[in-house]
Amino acid sequence: MKKLPLIEKIYVEKGAESYKITNSLLQSFHPIIPQTVSNAEEAFADLAKTSEDPIGEGKKRLFIGKQNGAFLKKCPGTKKMVCCNYYVLNIATQCSLNCSYCILQEYFQNNPILKVFCNIQDCFAEIDQLTHSKPKGIFRIGTGEFTDSLALDEAAGFSSELIPYFQGKENLILELKTKTTKIANLLKHKNVGNIAIAWSLNPDPIIEREEEGADKLEDRLDAARACQENGYKIAFHFDPIILYPGWENGYRDTVQKIFERINPEKIVWISLGGFRYRPSMKNMIRERFPESGLLVGEQVLCEDGKMRYLKSLRVEAYRKIAGWIKSHGPSLRVYLCMESPEMWRKVFKKAPMCQEKDDLLFDDE
Ligand code: SF4
Repeated sequence: MKKLPLIEKIYVEKGAESYKITNSLLQSFHPIIPQTVSNAEEAFADLAKTSEDPIGEGKKRLFIGKQNGAFLKKCPGTKKMVCCNYYVLNIATQCSLNCSYCILQEYFQNNPILKVFCNIQDCFAEIDQLTHSKPKGIFRIGTGEFTDSLALDEAAGFSSELIPYFQGKENLILELKTKTTKIANLLKHKNVGNIAIAWSLNPDPIIEREEEGADKLEDRLDAARACQENGYKIAFHFDPIILYPGWENGYRDTVQKIFERINPEKIVWISLGGFRYRPSMKNMIRERFPESGLLVGEQVLCEDGKMRYLKSLRVEAYRKIAGWIKSHGPSLRVYLCMESPEMWRKVFKKAPMCQEKDDLLFDDE
């Protein structure tokens, strides 16, 4: 039996009681007795009065409520950077894991409670509307932008709602992105060729120091192999790439370990993205993660307002990691996340014209 994430308190919004996801979460976290609240702000007010580290505490408190806004949004990308035309399905916000570099700690600092939306079935009408508006389009949709897609899956059962809707729809690709091994629900489904399970990867020294609560590299890759054998497509994200003493060996070994287990033909894409953060996050990292090595070394302010490693270091890292990957599968789709057209040209000798396409990953098809 896998350990469930450490949830200490649960708030249920009035009106959310009868949903399947609500019941599944309450059962999974039994014997926690939920507190009924009118909205997420009420839950946050309860959190704020008790904690010195509301962000850390928010990860242990679960708010179950209805998504009253849109579930589906086009990924906003970032100014001056190449965008991959991806759709984000917002099924939950915040995360029970605690990565030092996580942008969500800043993004949701005004209400850092882990929120789960129980009315997930309402997202299907939104996706139907999108696909009807562009009948020839192929849409990549992922749930891993504002949370880890699988950290709570065995407790909430999101995938048991999503997978049956996506199965067999050739114009849709669902991506579930994680740093965990919580794949038990995924393995119950067959006919899942348009569903990609993606793992964010880093070498073990980075996992140990910067990714609290996440599973070890080899465990993630073993889970990837199990999903591959079950018929899922597989994806990987080297994001954020962190340059530490020994990074070359660390990332080369990580690439090697992937291809010891995974057939390159089953991999739909691999992204590379260097560590980046808004300057306002610096203090948060220092205060919440005094042991972190993230801020060691020179980082510069880029055009989109984010700090990154020096361009020459990023080019070197991207070229090397992409080269190691391509040596195992020359036709693998490797792309850069949140980098400029200039960086694309330096690494791949071309930049995609993605703004004119439905999805840059299908540019070359
Ligand atoms: S797994 Fe992702 S969402 Fe969760 S804390 Fe880490 S970076 Fe943030």
